[in-house]
Amino acid sequence: MAKRVAIIGAGSSGLCAIKACLDEGLEPVCFERSGDIGGLWRFEEQPEQGRASIYKSVIINTSKEMMCFSDFPIPDDFPNYMHHSKIMEYFRMYARHFQLLPHIRLRVRAARAPRLRPQRPVARGDGARRRAGGGHLRRRARVHRPPHGRAPAAAHYLHSRDYKDPQAFTDKRVIVIGIGNSGSDLAVEISQTAGSPPGAADEHQWGQAPTGSSKALGTRAGSSRQRRDMVQTLHRPDSSLCPCRFLHQHPTINDDLPNRIISGRVRVKPNIREFTATAAIFEDGTTEDNIDAVVFATGYSFAFPFLEDCVTVVENQIPLYKYVFPVHLEKPTLAFVGLIQPLGAIMPISELQCRWATRVFKGRTGPPARPGPAGAGPSRAASRRYVRSPRHTIQVDYIPYMDELAEQVGVRPSLAGLFLRDPRLAAEVLLGPCTPYQYRLRGPGRWHGARAAILTQRQRIIKPLRTRHVEEDAAASSVPLLAVLLAAVAAFALLLAYV
Ligand SMILES: Cc1cc2nc3c(=O)[nH]c(=O)nc-3n(C[C@H](O)[C@H](O)[C@H](O)COP(=O)(O)OP(=O)(O)OC[C@H]3O[C@@H](n4cnc5c(N)ncnc54)[C@H](O)[C@@H]3O)c2cc1C
Repeated sequence: MAKRVAIIGAGSSGLCAIKACLDEGLEPVCFERSGDIGGLWRFEEQPEQGRASIYKSVIINTSKEMMCFSDFPIPDDFPNYMHHSKIMEYFRMYARHFQLLPHIRLRVRAARAPRLRPQRPVARGDGARRRAGGGHLRRRARVHRPPHGRAPAAAHYLHSRDYKDPQAFTDKRVIVIGIGNSGSDLAVEISQTAGSPPGAADEHQWGQAPTGSSKALGTRAGSSRQRRDMVQTLHRPDSSLCPCRFLHQHPTINDDLPNRIISGRVRVKPNIREFTATAAIFEDGTTEDNIDAVVFATGYSFAFPFLEDCVTVVENQIPLYKYVFPVHLEKPTLAFVGLIQPLGAIMPISELQCRWATRVFKGRTGPPARPGPAGAGPSRAASRRYVRSPRHTIQVDYIPYMDELAEQVGVRPSLAGLFLRDPRLAAEVLLGPCTPYQYRLRGPGRWHGARAAILTQRQRIIKPLRTRHVEEDAAASSVPLLAVLLAAVAAFALLLAYV
């Protein structure tokens, strides 16, 4: 009889967990507390308890080729950076295509997990149910209070989770606290209609996402050069936006922010020192008075109330081996999926974590090494680079982490072998964007469409931009014609002058 796996949450991590179970011949049952799939990416006007929430205009900041599931490319006509409605469309297509829906029980909240035993020297019989946990199972919005005083009494204040659209802020003076991805999105959007909104910087740095940003940080080769180019473009002492060294913080990606700053519609300020009844006083002593609203874009913390017996989260830290398996459990029967903050997209990481976890559950891959609590958390390189903060406890670099997981599953692409067998493909794997299909070229879960998906990825990037027919040689051929006309006019003028 197939082993049963309980999956908590039917967001993108839960969906690929169901698929991975089915691929391994396990029997998944997914419990979703809300009435539909999609998790964070399903927009609702009213935030629901226990589910992260997005605003009306949200566009994902990871490109479609970098964020798709590895054996299900996003349709070529979908935009490269998708609105949440398109992301939901893709998740629904994925769920339908792989027949995941019959395994989901909606409106069922996991309230308590069976007690899992901590590690002990003597192994016990395998009676425990194996479970894959949906990542970000329960995240609570955490409003970071300013260190001194409260938000101005007269002001309306809210967390970014409760922000839906800018209407309520028309002609208001607004402070957005935090200049991470949500903070900068909100500052840009609110600045279209607000009075004069100052954005309060919170030690975050930012980076700009040009249309090719799937490549900017995501190729196997050349990433250090690309990073240097980005630093040269962005890390200017007069920008007010880079108070720390490049890539020592999770980067903020926003194309519109520079335009709003240059037109004076968003002002970047230092941290807030104190709020008075009506004003905000910043660390540099400057003041903004008559504040109408304060938006806390200060991020999320995570908690797993139904797993209280098994795992404890302290200051956003949780002892997981490679961010998946709790280090202290006797058996690897519990896995966390998508509990990660990459420099890149989460979905392919969740998917590879699921492929690893389900193979461990099934017994096809040996149990993960048990390094003890010291082996959990960020790699040494990540700990050295990132600023120590609750924001970076689950921070990873995309390619090194994906390769680590792929090593466990046995699907890491072998570049040397690939160059001998298929140089064209090898060149694209090395020099092109490190798309998730690379982890389907070989080993368990190999997908016959992976090669074609890699070789056609650039066409899928270009396709949605070609929305009208443009004659390619129109511009080139018009130059000689123009030159001939000008020459004819000049000759005619000369002729008239001398006659
Ligand atoms: C504002 C914002 C923007 C983001 N932008 C990006 C981006 O551009 N690119 C990117 O890759 N990532 C982004 N992320 C990260 C995002 O978390 C992932 O993209 C992705 O949604 C994670 O999927 P998930 O399934 O792990 O979690 P979620 O999408 O949060 O889904 C979790 C599901 O579990 C359910 N659940 C929770 N508790 C229980 C329970 N006790 N019982 C049953 N069901 C339960 C919830 O209802 C929910 O449906 C963003 C996050 C936020 C907050």
